[in-house]
Amino acid sequence: MTAGVPVAGGLAWYTYDTLFEAKGDILHTKRPKHIVGGPKNLVITHGCRGSVLKAEEIHQNDPRQRLVILGSGWGAVSVINQLDPKKFHVTVVSPTNYFLFTPLLPSATVGTLELRSLIEPIRRLLSKLGGYYVEGRAEDIDFENQLVEVSGVNNSEGQMFYVPYDKLVIAVGSESMTHGIQGLEHCNFLKSITDARDIRRKVMENFEKASLPTTTDEERRQLLSFVICGGGPTGVEFAAELYDFLYEDLVGYFPAIPPEEVQVSIIQSAGHILNTYGKTFLWLIIENISEMTEAKFKRESINVVTNARVVKVNPKSVTYKEKSTGKEYEVPFGVCLWSTGVGMTPLVKTLVAKLPTGSQSNKHAIETDGYLRVLGAPEETVYAIGDCATIPQPHFVEKVMTILQENDTNGDNVLNYDEFHNLANKIIAKHSVLKVFLARLDMVFEKYDKDHNGTLDLDEIRAFLVDVEKQCTALPATAQVASQQGKFVGKRINVLHEIEDDPVAAAKLPQFNYTHLGSLAYIGGNEAVLDLGKGYVYGGLGSEYLWRSVYFSEQVSIRTRLLLLMDWSKRALFGRDISKF
Ligand code: FAD
Ligand code: MG
Repeated sequence: MTAGVPVAGGLAWYTYDTLFEAKGDILHTKRPKHIVGGPKNLVITHGCRGSVLKAEEIHQNDPRQRLVILGSGWGAVSVINQLDPKKFHVTVVSPTNYFLFTPLLPSATVGTLELRSLIEPIRRLLSKLGGYYVEGRAEDIDFENQLVEVSGVNNSEGQMFYVPYDKLVIAVGSESMTHGIQGLEHCNFLKSITDARDIRRKVMENFEKASLPTTTDEERRQLLSFVICGGGPTGVEFAAELYDFLYEDLVGYFPAIPPEEVQVSIIQSAGHILNTYGKTFLWLIIENISEMTEAKFKRESINVVTNARVVKVNPKSVTYKEKSTGKEYEVPFGVCLWSTGVGMTPLVKTLVAKLPTGSQSNKHAIETDGYLRVLGAPEETVYAIGDCATIPQPHFVEKVMTILQENDTNGDNVLNYDEFHNLANKIIAKHSVLKVFLARLDMVFEKYDKDHNGTLDLDEIRAFLVDVEKQCTALPATAQVASQQGKFVGKRINVLHEIEDDPVAAAKLPQFNYTHLGSLAYIGGNEAVLDLGKGYVYGGLGSEYLWRSVYFSEQVSIRTRLLLLMDWSKRALFGRDISKF
């Protein structure tokens, strides 16, 4: 009986091993040939023939369209998950050979989760498509010849090469915004897995140093001060994780450090922390979530400084200015997290500068049309999604006269309710973000019909359009937006492949339509805040489990789900791993 257990175990293992043999070979069965060519005479990947780089000549042995995706983050993976492998020959170019589940990154900074539980190899995700991965950084794009210029990540000689494409998806994400502040080299960032590892190491290092008998009181105060510049979700979640760490682990393992000696401060330039939550929806929600979190942090002695701007980061302190008084304050820090929004990557800067004059005007991202096609690039070949892209905001107010004329079907120079209803539907069709704002149209009509005569005149319509423009803010830089956009582009190019010869059918395909599914943030002490959109806000009992289950269900593989479960159980049973290495 007892011998049966190891025998059955061995048999099960053998069966598993033979059934799920490594699939790595799939990616290497046909080793691509490389030739040299293109305007810069560089190596061109994947058996590209001839020197004339026409799309149809590039891949004569493979009838599939050549789809190149730049990036291996949220947007990219979501495109990959939609693609039909029979239609596309897929190549991913990215300096990171894994997908990173960013929403749980703050949990990795104090050891609640292990770093490896947050990543999934991109080659594994690509294997079901038989796709290729190139560990490189796109440096430039030759739109005319349909070539991406890439530098290999570990290419010691700095040689560049080309990756040709028929269709290109740019999903290179963003970089931390610096706002031109000096001294950011003394800060930590939290965007990549290495950032999380650096923070975790530094946190442990500071606690160990602070416990030494030789450390002076002043040094200790500095080592145990954690300053977070930026009160968005990342900053708030880092503060929450630190708080959990202090009260769940520090108390037990660092008897020399009473938790009240540790100071956590958040410096936020806006009036509230988490101020982007539900921004385009109901103002009421923002107040609720921010206030809830601020009140909780106050009870926990997390110092929240709002309406203050960081002016300089010194090696061991941050100087900030109170907006209302102009007075400057200095806070010492042992760790300073810089998390104040996102800006353009070098590739995006290069592209925006080279696209035809007048096609791009945004300072933070590449502009696309409603179908997510890059403005100014050859039509239907280049898409941009996620943090690196934006859809330009509409200018309704300047066209108020035309709008009135176009919608005034009975020609009385005002809009009655039916005419207004038609106008609202047209606006929603193009700007889905306005669905909530225009949900109760009868109330909206009443609000702008100032003189209550049952029609809207030119001034009333103008007032309405001013508010519409305000509501139409750009989509936030979130994983939610990136993955919905990736899904949209993946589906679109699948369909376009089928109806290539039918421009009428192609023109009928819908524009990208964003559906806000809510925002979540972990705020510590087993509590999360959930803005579920449409006015529903949740926090309190059980919210952490809701928060965990949402992220659990969004994992890209069973493997990472299993790892997360193990990490959460490990922490519940043994606490966090506080080793420093
Ligand atoms: P990314 O996911 O950043 O991927 C960009 C990819 O491009 C990376 O693989 C990168 O290596 C690669 N790349 C960069 N430059 C190049 C180049 N030149 N050539 C080729 N590849 C390149 N969003 C939410 O919705 N909910 C959350 O709770 C949430 N929490 C977050 C917490 C943290 C700590 C962070 C940092 C972000 C969080 N976000 C969250 C935001 C979310 O991660 C981003 O909006 C999302 O990752 C954007 O997806 P993306 O595909 O545009 O870019
Ligand atoms: Mg009328």
